[in-house]
Amino acid sequence: MDFSSKLLENAVYEMSQLPGIGKRTALRLVLHLLKQPERQTENLSNALTKLRTMVQFCKKCHNISDTALCEICSNPKRDASLVCVVEDIRDVMAIENTGQYRGLYHVLGGKISPIEGMGPQDLTISSLINKVKEGEVQELILALSSTMEGDTTNFYIFKQLEGTGVKTSTIARGIAVGDELEYADEVTLGRSILNRIPFEGSFSNK
Ligand SMILES: [Zn+2]
Repeated sequence: MDFSSKLLENAVYEMSQLPGIGKRTALRLVLHLLKQPERQTENLSNALTKLRTMVQFCKKCHNISDTALCEICSNPKRDASLVCVVEDIRDVMAIENTGQYRGLYHVLGGKISPIEGMGPQDLTISSLINKVKEGEVQELILALSSTMEGDTTNFYIFKQLEGTGVKTSTIARGIAVGDELEYADEVTLGRSILNRIPFEGSFSNK
C-alpha cells in the first residue's frame, strides 16, 4: 500500500495490529476517524489509555475491575458459597447476561493446553484451591468449554480439590433449544444422554 502521508501510514499500521483487522479495514477505519470531529478520536484514545493504565484484576475472582474487589464480589446480595469457574471475562459477561446466576465467579485466564504451552501454573488455579480451602465456598460449578482442554482443566481442578469436601458440578451440556436431534454431533448428543435431567425439571423456568 502506497501512502501519501507517513502519519496516515503509521495510524493504519497500528490499527492493523488488532486481530481481524487487515490493512484495508484499518485504512477504512482511519479515514472514517479523519472525517469525524477531532473529539471522537480523542475520546477513543483516552478510553484506551485509561483502560490500559487503570484497569485492575479483582483480587478475589480475577475478573477485570475498576476496583481491587469487583462489583460482583463486593455485592452482599450474591451468594459467596457458590462459585462458577470460567475461562475468561467474556464467559462472566455471558452468564451475567442470562440474569439467572446469583453466585460468584472465578476467572482462570484460559485453560490447560500443552500445545499452546499453557500449564496449571499459568492459570489462577492455585488461587481457586486456596479459596476453597479457606472454607467459604460450598459448591463449584465448572463452566469451561466443552473441548479436550476444557475437560483436562476440569479434571485437574477436580483432582486438586480432593479431600476439601467441596461439591463440584459442571454445566449441563446438551442439545440447543430448537435443534433437531439428528443434526447434533455425537459428543453433544452423548453428553445430553449422560447428563439427562428429571422430566419434571425440564420445563421449570428456574
Ligand atoms: Zn471479583
